[in-house]
This record gives sequence, C-alpha cells and structure tokens, in this order.
Amino acid sequence: MGPDTPPQPDSPPPTADHDLHQHGHTTLMEECLAFVNTSHVSRGRMVDDFSSPEDAVAWFSRRSLIHADARDRLLAAYAADPSLGTAELALVRRVRDGIRGLFEAAVTGRPPAAADLGTVNRALRTQFVYVLVPAPDGISLGHRHLGDPVDGALARIAEGVARELSQGTPERLRICESAECREVFMDRSRTGRRRWCDMATCGNRAKAARHRARRRASDAETARGIPREPILASIEPSA
Ligand SMILES: [Zn+2]
Repeated sequence: MGPDTPPQPDSPPPTADHDLHQHGHTTLMEECLAFVNTSHVSRGRMVDDFSSPEDAVAWFSRRSLIHADARDRLLAAYAADPSLGTAELALVRRVRDGIRGLFEAAVTGRPPAAADLGTVNRALRTQFVYVLVPAPDGISLGHRHLGDPVDGALARIAEGVARELSQGTPERLRICESAECREVFMDRSRTGRRRWCDMATCGNRAKAARHRARRRASDAETARGIPREPILASIEPSA
C-alpha cells in the first residue's frame, strides 16, 4: 500500500478525461490491456517497461490515471525517500501480475488463482467520492480517488478488469500465440478467431515460420526423389 496521504481537499476537480464514463468501457479496457502488456516478451526474454517507480508514474500520468499535480508530488516524495518508490513499484508489479493471472485463467478457462483474486481485490479496495463533472452533452458522473494516487490509478485499472471479467466479453480475451510475444489482447474481430496480437508482426512471423517448416519438409521430400510442390514466394521470412 502507498503512504497514508490524507484526502487532498485542494486537489482540482476531475477533468473529463479522468472520468470513467467519459473514458468509456472500451477505452478503460484498452488501458487495462496496455498496463498488463507493460511486462512483455522481447527477443525471448521478459522486458519490464517499468524499470523505476518514476516510469510507472509517468505511464499512469500519460493515461490520465494520475493528475499532473499528483504526479509531481509523487516524484518529489520518491526523490526524498527512495524506499517509498521501491514499495510502490513492487505494488504496481504485483497488481499487474495478478491481473495477468486473471486474464490467463479467463483465456484458458481455468478458475482464477486465489492469490491473483486477492491481489486484484485489494487493488479495488480504495476510497473514492462520486462527483458530477461537465460533459459535452451536459453532465456525467465521475469519481475521484482519495489517498495515494498510485493506489487510485491501480484501482481504476482493477475496476476495468473487474467489469470486463464479470460483465464484459472475457471469452474474447486472447494471449498472442507467438511465444516471442504473449501479449494479452481483446479479439474484436467479427469471427472471433484472431490468434495474434498483430497480423503485421506476430501473425506474419508465424506464417513465415510455417512456410519455412513446409519448405524444409518439402526439401526433405525432394532429397528422397519426391517432386517438389510450387511454393508461394510472396512470404518474407521474418527479420
Ligand atoms: Zn504478438
């Protein structure tokens, strides 16, 4: 948990982009997916986009999950007491792992691990107040988290995850089939049969690998005197 920051009575009213309803369900889910995918596979090894607590705070801030003034207070607090930043980064990573665990369970049809549920449930447990905010078409209901801004940002993410898994389309969650990727994504295709996060990268890589495997098999057959099938030359091997 973060520090016991008291509610900030002087904090600015939530802006429209800080509001759940303005964000919209789909956008919030995209943020949840992007959050989970900040830990990813690259060239066969795990890479963490959050190499420091400052990275995590900057990420939340870019996505309007932490306000600029709260971000500046946090960065000053981390500079004054690095152990605070270390603890918050550990929390961010723990919640991220917990969410990935819930997503993987949903994708593979397993029941969620109790530890992952517990982690995400703790992230949900945050104080907030409802506030009315101006919206393009009148007024909308937003909420402002009280206390530590990182707890608040994680709570928003956890809320998106909770809504998706309980009321959304968890059957459309996918994990990219490329072993070099494993990115979590929502299959929004009409047929619901997407296997890769991105056809231009992972999909093409898989197709090229299949093509190479077919050619190897074909070469082996040619070596045994079996006539070779013509092969499409249009598929580029991956870099
Ligand atoms: Zn991928």
